[in-house]
Amino acid sequence: MKNTAHWIRQTHLFGKDEYQCSACGFLAGKPAAACPRCGTKMKGAKYDPSWVDEISAFDAIVEDYYFGN
Ligand SMILES: [Zn+2]
Repeated sequence: MKNTAHWIRQTHLFGKDEYQCSACGFLAGKPAAACPRCGTKMKGAKYDPSWVDEISAFDAIVEDYYFGN
């Protein structure tokens, strides 16, 4: 059992960054000292390029295409 977690940064091409709790998956607008949902203490924001997959970026581009035209 882990008692610490970290924020996983999600970057969006056409939106604000979000931070996801690595323990429960809670999405926050900004990293906090502890997860508001599960209460797990955070080691700090961690940028994980392997997690920020290209599909998210692609979805953002597609959304912009459909709703921006
Ligand atoms: Zn959490």
